[in-house]
Amino acid sequence: MTVKRNALITGSTSGIGLGIARGLAAIGHNIMLNGFADREEIEHLKAEISSTYGVRVGYTNADVSNPEAIAGAVEQTKADIGEIDILVNNAGIQFVSPIEEFPIEKWNAIIAIDLASAFHFIRLALPGMKQRGFGRIINVASAHALVASPFKAAYVSAKHGIAGLTKTVALEAAEHGITVNAICPGYVLTPLVEKQIPDQAHARGISEEAVVRDVLLAAQPTKRFIKVEEVAALAAFLADEQTTSITGAIIPIDGGWTAH
Ligand code: NAD
Repeated sequence: MTVKRNALITGSTSGIGLGIARGLAAIGHNIMLNGFADREEIEHLKAEISSTYGVRVGYTNADVSNPEAIAGAVEQTKADIGEIDILVNNAGIQFVSPIEEFPIEKWNAIIAIDLASAFHFIRLALPGMKQRGFGRIINVASAHALVASPFKAAYVSAKHGIAGLTKTVALEAAEHGITVNAICPGYVLTPLVEKQIPDQAHARGISEEAVVRDVLLAAQPTKRFIKVEEVAALAAFLADEQTTSITGAIIPIDGGWTAH
């Protein structure tokens, strides 16, 4: 039987984060949502997850590029659902450009959201986890934590950085019942990626199937998208009470991409 825990998932109003929130709620954990969306959508999500799974659901609109907002989110989580047992650092953005033209503000935003936010959430959540002798920290990295692609200097740097942070904190927390792991998805069909398919088909004058196979999934041997539910299942596995010896692991879920 799963012990009921409290989980904060950053960037969980959409895509992978929302999938992980649903997956953790489905096994009985209370959920703290975070991310951007209009108020009506947030209220709908909170009510829907709470009534479907019978768990407490809170929400913080903290912009995770701001360390003060992160401190506020940690406090609000305690007030709304309780002490953080499971921390999923998922919020992330992307920007694609040759490095010579890479806008400095985009570099700063990606490093802040995709890397530094995890540092801040971890440093604030870890003391309580240590006190209680239990914690699960799951960092949503990317195949780009393991390999690079051109024109993604900030994203690849941030995701490689998350891999280093994961290993370091895993060592520091190892004797306290806390595991720290990184999940490295290849292409996942989230609203963000979905939207690109018709646009690319139109721009290139090829079919949507050709965009998926020859453009988006060129590096992914399975030639199919990873489903949000598959990533959520991996997160739920890592959050389980039994997975005490999996820590400091950088785990690909990439359809064979990084086997190349
Ligand atoms: P998405 O755009 O669907 O969701 C991103 C979430 O982060 C949203 O809830 C958004 O509101 C939130 N967010 C963005 N900036 C924020 C900020 N400053 N403060 C708080 N919340 C913020 O994206 P996704 O595809 O679900 O990506 C989620 C994570 O998975 C990211 O870290 C991304 O790098 C990683 N990832 C995605 C893929 C993919 O193919 N979709 C592949 C590998 C890794």
